[in-house]
Amino acid sequence: MKYINNNLSVEKIKIEDIAKKFGTPTYCYSYKKLKDNINNFKNNFKSFSPLICFAIKSNTNVNLIKEIRKLGLGADVVSMGELMVALKAGIEPKKIVFSGVGKTVTEIGFAIDKKILLINAESKSEIVEIERIAKSKKITVNIGIRLNPNTDAKTLKQISTGKKENKFGVDEKVFFDLVDYAKLSKNIKLKCLSVHIGSQILDHKPYKKMLNVINKIIKRSNYNFEFIDLGGGMGISYEKTNKKLNYQKYNMAINKFLKDHKSKIIFEPGRSIVGNIGSLISKVLYIKENEKKDFIILDAAMNDLMRPALYGANHKTLPVIKTNQVSKKIYEFVGPICESTDKFTTLKKFQKLNEKDLIVMCDTGAYGMSLSSNYNLRPKAAEVLIKGSKINVIKKRQKLEELI
Ligand SMILES: *Cc1c(COP(=O)(O)O)cnc(C)c1O
Repeated sequence: MKYINNNLSVEKIKIEDIAKKFGTPTYCYSYKKLKDNINNFKNNFKSFSPLICFAIKSNTNVNLIKEIRKLGLGADVVSMGELMVALKAGIEPKKIVFSGVGKTVTEIGFAIDKKILLINAESKSEIVEIERIAKSKKITVNIGIRLNPNTDAKTLKQISTGKKENKFGVDEKVFFDLVDYAKLSKNIKLKCLSVHIGSQILDHKPYKKMLNVINKIIKRSNYNFEFIDLGGGMGISYEKTNKKLNYQKYNMAINKFLKDHKSKIIFEPGRSIVGNIGSLISKVLYIKENEKKDFIILDAAMNDLMRPALYGANHKTLPVIKTNQVSKKIYEFVGPICESTDKFTTLKKFQKLNEKDLIVMCDTGAYGMSLSSNYNLRPKAAEVLIKGSKINVIKKRQKLEELI
């Protein structure tokens, strides 16, 4: 996104034109950025050509997933709905892995019938359940076991998943027991060790630690894993000055690990693929003056973009038409929902705004639309994908009739 004659544009399309044509709030994605992200991701790890499974939960739009599939990625799913959307987008079952701590009998049965690459199990009870279902279908199912490596990802505590107090995966001791259990089973075939220590990770050191932990555990288990699934979690810069994950160092650590293990590496990135491809366009409904600050009341709310209310996330906010007037007041950007946490950001010296002005919240391509809800019975936003000179509506704005 950049300003062309003071008009914020995606590729060469003016955001103002998108808002005029499709209304607000609207999520807008850049195809070019998506393609760049995927190519960069592949390039960072090209020495061992991993299977890259896009974490569907970060963005569940079927038309966007189709583009991601065409660019060569598989899928990491965490529910039957996500598995269905991945298949509908044309992703080959042999490029799909199924993670999650609470898969139901229906979900496991469906995944088995679709012959996906791996079901990554997260507890002994789940493995027993997968085995029982596989036996009733008289087949052998390929599984992974998710290890909890007890590694601090050094990220927000709400999105940290690899410490022993987190619900994800099994600890070392249970892991060894499960490897032995799987060895004796006729209906499950253990193919993968999986880990995922958290999200928005910007320091490569937790990944290095995690690799050391699994290196030791694999050696001790004396088992040959066809796949090692390292999960996702690669962070992005939400603010201009933020640090970046050092992919080179992560790549080096994996190459070192692969000297001892001849496994195929799987990644499950979500945010690093789609996070910075999207922005949420919104209109200023009202400006309400307050003693210390002005409330900028937007037509987008926490039901459209939940991250600020859920984890105190901050998204860079920009005016769509740039002027040179700076506001003397502090601006607090809020939505219309009846919750005090329905606020996005508080900024000093923002451009002076007027009612009906447009703004965008940047880097909302991941965990934006996919975390949206109908709270306050608000219909969901539209989604558009900018591809070259074309604006493709990849999801229409929800109609109230669909909700009531
Ligand atoms: C959420 C999740 C991911 C994706 O995380 P990102 O931070 O978006 O890359 C990958 N694997 C699993 C198991 C997850 O739960």
